[in-house]
Amino acid sequence: MAALAQKLDLARLQLGAGEGRRVALRVEIEPLSLGSESYAAEPGEVAVTLDVSRMLGGGYALRLRFAVALAGPCMRCLKEAAPVVDVDAREVDRPGEGEELDSPYVRDELLDLAGWAHDAFALGAPVKVLCRPDCAGLCPVCAADLNEAGTGHRHERAPDARWAKLRELRLE
Ligand SMILES: [Zn+2]
Ligand SMILES: [Zn+2]
Repeated sequence: MAALAQKLDLARLQLGAGEGRRVALRVEIEPLSLGSESYAAEPGEVAVTLDVSRMLGGGYALRLRFAVALAGPCMRCLKEAAPVVDVDAREVDRPGEGEELDSPYVRDELLDLAGWAHDAFALGAPVKVLCRPDCAGLCPVCAADLNEAGTGHRHERAPDARWAKLRELRLE
C-alpha cells in the first residue's frame, strides 16, 4: 500500500536535472466548508498520483491527480450526497523566477502535499453539491422530498387575486 504522506521532501527523490518520477502516495484531506456545511473527502485517506519532474536549471514541475467523493448534505434535498471530484492539478516551483513560478506549496524542496490536495479538492468541488444531477429538492410549501413525492405533488392554493384581475384584463 502507498505510504501516507502529508508532506514530501522532494530532495529525497534525488532526481537529476531533467529527470522525473511518478510516486503513488496516500494523503489525508481535511473537510471543506461550503456554505454553512462541512463536506468530507471520502475516503479520508486518498490515493494520489504525483508526478515530479526536476527541471533543467533547477526547480520542480509537479502534477497531482486523484479522484475522491465529496460527502455531505445535498444542497437541494439535504440527503446524503457524494459526487466524485476529479482532480488534475499542476504546480511549478522555480525559486527566484517570479511569483507565478514560485509554488506556495513548495518551501525549500518540501512539498505540502496535504495543503495542495485540499486546495485542489476545493477548486474541483461543484458549486452545488447534489445527491444526483436532477435532484428535485424539497417542496417549498410543506418540505416534502419531491424525489419521493413525485412530480404530481401539489397544494391546493387559494387563487391569487392579482391573477384573477389579470385574467379579466386579458379577456377585455
Ligand atoms: Zn438531493
Ligand atoms: Zn408540498
